[in-house]
Amino acid sequence: MGKKSKVGKTRKDKFYQLAKETGFRSRAAFKLIQLNRRYGFLQQSQVCLDLCAAPGGWMQVAKQNMPVSSIVIGVDLFPIKAIAGCIGLVEDITTEKCRQSLTKELQSWKADVVLHDGAPNVGRNWLFDAYQQICLTLNALKLATQFLRGGGWFVTKVFRSKDYNALLWVLKQLFKKVHATKPSASRKESAEIFVVCEGYIAPDRIDPRLLDSKYVFEELDLDAKKPNSLLHPEKQKRIKAEGYTAQDIALRNDLAVTEFIKAENALSALQGVGSIRIDSQEVASHKKTTPEILECCKDLKVLGRKDIKGLVLWWKALRDSFVKPEKTADDEAAGDEKPEAAKPLTQEEIEDMEEVEFQKEIDALASEEQKELKRKRKKTLKTKAKLHEKMNLNMVIKGDEGPVEETEHEIFDLKTINSAAELDDMLDVQPDITVEESTDEVNNLPKYKWYDKEESRLDDDANYEDCDDAEESADEGEEEEQLGNRGLGLSDDDDDVVRGKGKKRKRDDNPLIKSADFRDKNTKRQQRVQLWYEKDNLQNLKSDDDDEENFDLDNLAKEYNAKGVTVLGESTSTLTPDATKGRKAKRRARHQETERDSSSSESSDSEEEAEPKDNEAAGTAKKVRLSENELALGSLLVSSKKNRRDLIDASWNRYAFNDENLPAWFVQDEDENMRRPVPVPHELTAEYQRKVQELNVRPIKKVMEAKARKHRRTTKRLAKAKKMAEKIMENADASSHEKSKQLKKVYKKAQEKKKEITYVVAKKQSAARRARRPAGVKGRYKVVDPREKKDKRSLVAKKKREKGGKGGGRGGKGKRK
Ligand code: SAM
Repeated sequence: MGKKSKVGKTRKDKFYQLAKETGFRSRAAFKLIQLNRRYGFLQQSQVCLDLCAAPGGWMQVAKQNMPVSSIVIGVDLFPIKAIAGCIGLVEDITTEKCRQSLTKELQSWKADVVLHDGAPNVGRNWLFDAYQQICLTLNALKLATQFLRGGGWFVTKVFRSKDYNALLWVLKQLFKKVHATKPSASRKESAEIFVVCEGYIAPDRIDPRLLDSKYVFEELDLDAKKPNSLLHPEKQKRIKAEGYTAQDIALRNDLAVTEFIKAENALSALQGVGSIRIDSQEVASHKKTTPEILECCKDLKVLGRKDIKGLVLWWKALRDSFVKPEKTADDEAAGDEKPEAAKPLTQEEIEDMEEVEFQKEIDALASEEQKELKRKRKKTLKTKAKLHEKMNLNMVIKGDEGPVEETEHEIFDLKTINSAAELDDMLDVQPDITVEESTDEVNNLPKYKWYDKEESRLDDDANYEDCDDAEESADEGEEEEQLGNRGLGLSDDDDDVVRGKGKKRKRDDNPLIKSADFRDKNTKRQQRVQLWYEKDNLQNLKSDDDDEENFDLDNLAKEYNAKGVTVLGESTSTLTPDATKGRKAKRRARHQETERDSSSSESSDSEEEAEPKDNEAAGTAKKVRLSENELALGSLLVSSKKNRRDLIDASWNRYAFNDENLPAWFVQDEDENMRRPVPVPHELTAEYQRKVQELNVRPIKKVMEAKARKHRRTTKRLAKAKKMAEKIMENADASSHEKSKQLKKVYKKAQEKKKEITYVVAKKQSAARRARRPAGVKGRYKVVDPREKKDKRSLVAKKKREKGGKGGGRGGKGKRK
């Protein structure tokens, strides 16, 4: 049982596969596809003649398998559906008119292949039908002999009948090779067979008798065949495929359904029967008499095992409905005799019936499963498409989790309570004020209210504000000031004051918040002030700026004194004239020292030279970048007093003059050339050089940070890709090909993309204007000078020339440009 169903399924699978591969669904098309796969006649053909072509399956297969420029001409008694690149003629292939039409169509061309799948309207009489078909085939062959080129193919369907061998003999006279085959798409039970004739001999003259059916198909008496088992033909010795014999036809007289019902055994009743005639209206209208059963009844010879079993089941149902009552009547007449209908079924019959039922169930389940799978796939595709669409419309942003459910309702959020008063308000909520109450309140207001122009002030809406309100606003102003001081750490309530909706609130007031700082207010204040003064910048300010300011003021006072102006408060100055003098001397000494220092660093570039002067003018200590030599000198100056003294002494030498009123050019020249080298040990300078180098080699913090950021980004991206890959692999709906495609996409996306720079050649007109992003350029871009390109080209050309020159020398093989 299992084997049978397995065989059936494999066959079905094969067709399903074929349909998937080729896109065709009809059995007829499959037949030609299989024949062509075996012999490959279509690929080699340019012109194809398809005789008996309607509705057009073969034509379509031919067109699809032939070269693009090929032509297919189809002929049939009925119109053929329009197919691109094909011509359809409505003709009878047995007539002269058809031959003329074909000549007109083909003109001088010859066909490379002639196909024939003709079958006359069958069902009248089996012998007659078979004979008609074979005559039609002979007619097709006749046309083929006229229109086929030498070496061409003739492919025809033939019904296996007593005349089959005669036809085969004729074909062998005209073709080099003749293959008789039955493609698996053709029902095994069917008498049809396909003959593929290869290499048309194209003789100059053909004996007309060879194509005359009356002459070719002579009457032959064949041995009577033994009755065949309908359900288990494989148990029988395989007989030669010869189609329907005359004896077959004699035995296969129609069996009336009423007779069929009466039969004791359905299978033996059907032995040798060609068709079942429905001669009873009751049977025809019986619920088990389905259209399929009626179709099966028409031709039992072409039925498969499954169909025969269906007929047996039908027979049983009919017997139950119609024969039983009769038997009961007989039973009544015959007394206690058991009815024949009650005879139990044989084991084999039961098994067969069970198998039919089982097969039906399997089919139903399989189709249901298929449908479910289809539905699922459709749903997934739909969801995907929707998501894509949303993403294209920017309705969904990657990484956005969408709306998140609030954990707590706003009404219960304690964050909104900031003070004891607000907590009280919350606990003791007043009922809503009704409209009447509010109007009462308005009514209770005095008719006139006086505002003092002096005491009141204008509010934002240009109305006079009450003094109390104004005070409140003033408080706010103070508070703002205080907040402004927060940055400096001068506010008393620096930590305690929080700002909200224009009202001052203290955290100490909030009963829901307890401070972890247990210092009292005064301690806090003292500590803060101390911290503020400890700041470096303030210390600098204190030391330098005060001195500078005093020095400038002294100078100014002196100037005014010289003009005879008395400066107020000068007498009250705490500085005595001696002290002032001492201070001046000090200042002068410092001034001179600075000058000396600046002269010692004259070797540094002019920019650096100018800096100390500027600094002096500004009175601020600007950062000066010192060379390694200067650094070494500085370290010598600060390391020991002796060194410092020696260096100063050494600066008074025979190269140092104190001449005055010298011409500027001479001073400049002397400055540049008359210089005694500063005695700084070479090792010390070298050490400073090494230190600077070390500093330069060390990675900058920003670079390190950027690298870390990049690394973090890459790790994150890869983790995300891995997650996506896992999801893809888990997806049961996608095929492995789809999965690998998706995986490739994900990892490609995860890879670091190098930022591409677009080079834009600067144009004359745009060069003068302010730099603006050129139209159509996205991302990073660089504006380059057109000359760069030219220069590069000329450089390459020059190199080439040089190479050429080296290789061949003058007049050698070097390339000339
Ligand atoms: N090969 C066709 C296809 O793939 O669609 C199916 C052919 S069908 C089995 C047989 C065809 O032969 C019918 O369409 C019938 O009209 C045609 N036929 C029968 N006798 C004919 C005749 N004398 N001249 C032309 N066509 C004929």
